[in-house]
Amino acid sequence: MKNSCTDIFRTLLGLVAALTYASFAWGYSFITNDSGQALSWPAGSITMHIMVDNTTALSDGTTRATSIQAAMLAWNAQIGSVQFSPLIAAAGSGTDKNNANELFFSAAPYDYGWDNNTLAITTIWYSGTQMKENDMIFNTAYTWDSYRGAQHANNVIDIHRIALHELGHVLGLDHPDDHGQSVTAIMNSTVSDIDSLQADDIAGAQSLYGLPNSPPAMVGQPANQSVYAGQSAQFSASATGHPAPTYNWQRLPTGGGSWANLGESVNYSGTATATLSVGGTVLAASGDQFRCVASNGSGSATSNAATLTVIASTLPSFTTQPAGQTVTEGQPVTFTATATGVPPPTYQWKKGGVPSLARPAAA
Ligand SMILES: [Zn+2]
Repeated sequence: MKNSCTDIFRTLLGLVAALTYASFAWGYSFITNDSGQALSWPAGSITMHIMVDNTTALSDGTTRATSIQAAMLAWNAQIGSVQFSPLIAAAGSGTDKNNANELFFSAAPYDYGWDNNTLAITTIWYSGTQMKENDMIFNTAYTWDSYRGAQHANNVIDIHRIALHELGHVLGLDHPDDHGQSVTAIMNSTVSDIDSLQADDIAGAQSLYGLPNSPPAMVGQPANQSVYAGQSAQFSASATGHPAPTYNWQRLPTGGGSWANLGESVNYSGTATATLSVGGTVLAASGDQFRCVASNGSGSATSNAATLTVIASTLPSFTTQPAGQTVTEGQPVTFTATATGVPPPTYQWKKGGVPSLARPAAA
């Protein structure tokens, strides 16, 4: 297999030669410890010391260092609980088991040596299920460039896609094709024309580190509401974002003032939820505006303002009173009553003080 990728898995006890893997619905697979548990980094930053050339421009305008850096940022955009923190340092050689993650070129990587087909290796020191140190070593025997698309001839290797692949190992992903999976993935064991992270790669990394953080974005806006005095009104908003945003409703009083956060009170409830209820409406509140601010650690978003209109209500009064009726026994009889009011009244007939048939209108 030409240009295959070889990876060295180390424990503090020595080389792990054979590992057992479970099957997953997705093609991705994990690097595991002796007990078959997936390895991963704790939440936070993974500092990566990039010790490669940062002066010579490659085909896509990057350098070896900035092309690798861009690969780290590509992974960062897809995952949540950890982020690569690239540090571009002077070109040089790393040191095995020094508690620093180092990326460099070498003609003789530590005590392993290159075989003819190996482009790069990632060493993985871990303890328990936690990654401790990953060094990424590129083979000086190849010609390295940075470009997208189909692989170039004559073994000119795109450092960007190799870095994407090796960084997947740093995160804890293994080769899906080494575990009976047939998927499109940068994590497959052989370099190909695939030059970017694929859905399977991303799903694997997100299963370890969750979704990337994203600021709230309003997807549901509150609508203007008209209610009769004394009735309650509801305003609703919704926002996307990760982690899920929290909500806070604000009010701008009619006639002036400024936007202010609402707290729970007799008249306002749900002030920290997606739906605000305004109770006990009075005419003086007509024209009040409400808006919702959605927030998470990545930012906030403010909804459009919605206006509350309160319509004066009047008690029902009868304009037509039922009149006494005389009919022959067994014949139907009709009583008529009409009332006005705001909002329009409903009717309830009673017989001898006992509720009788409800009628929508009596006209
Ligand atoms: Zn690999």
